Amino acid sequence: MHGIFSPTRRLLFLPLIVLSVFLLGAAPERNASVHVIIYHTFLGKESVSTDFSVDELRLQMERLKERGFRFVTLADVERGAVSGTRNVLVSIDDGNRSVYRAYREVFGPMGIKPLLAIYPNIIGRKKYALTWDELRALASDGCEIAAHGFFHLHVNEKLYAKNRPYFMNEIHKSKRVLEERMGRPVTAFVYPSGERCGHAMREIRAAGYRCAFTINWGTLRVPLERNPEALELPRYMLVRDNWKNIFALMDKNSGSPGGNGPKSTKRHLVLSR
Ligand SMILES: [Zn+2]
Repeated sequence: MHGIFSPTRRLLFLPLIVLSVFLLGAAPERNASVHVIIYHTFLGKESVSTDFSVDELRLQMERLKERGFRFVTLADVERGAVSGTRNVLVSIDDGNRSVYRAYREVFGPMGIKPLLAIYPNIIGRKKYALTWDELRALASDGCEIAAHGFFHLHVNEKLYAKNRPYFMNEIHKSKRVLEERMGRPVTAFVYPSGERCGHAMREIRAAGYRCAFTINWGTLRVPLERNPEALELPRYMLVRDNWKNIFALMDKNSGSPGGNGPKSTKRHLVLSR
């Protein structure tokens, strides 16, 4: 029989000791993390997997709040003003007109400021899209705007080889037009359909974006430098069939709710209704 301090056991403990020293040595605010979730439309069309009704959205936001999650903004993430692991950044892709009502009825009243990923080609031009005035109203209320391409083309190797000017416009023109129309800097890019390549990342950096979001599942670390790549930040796309599983996964990956647990938060919710 080997004793607890036998060479074999000591070898087994070594990684644990190294890990504890690392964790104890790290400042607490440097362990913060955020779950980024993706919505698209709020039309209440059950046949569209990425669509939710405004009532379903409200229920989902309340569920997150009950589980002790706090809602943060991209600005919070960029300046490292986030603590703990129960944080959510809501992103809404594409600029559908239903975003306006969802904001007025759910996000706004709950104090949630989503990141709106916009491709300018449809804004004010398509019936299903937001107008520039609506987008400006949302932005002046605190919603943040990210570029999501110009035509929503995939900035992958194929487009780079096939049509270089279109590829460049997706990254550079989208930023320029949004900044002109909104009168504020655009610092984040959201890859249409999550598609990307090395050329895209190079151009995104050259254009002056500070970060870019994919649709790969995972937890975003704060400050941004703690991520393996600030131009490949993870997000969870919510669809009708899996939003409950994703919320459960977020719950699991955030550790114990502790003092902000479901009980105390629920009591608070009841009082504040
Ligand atoms: Zn999109």
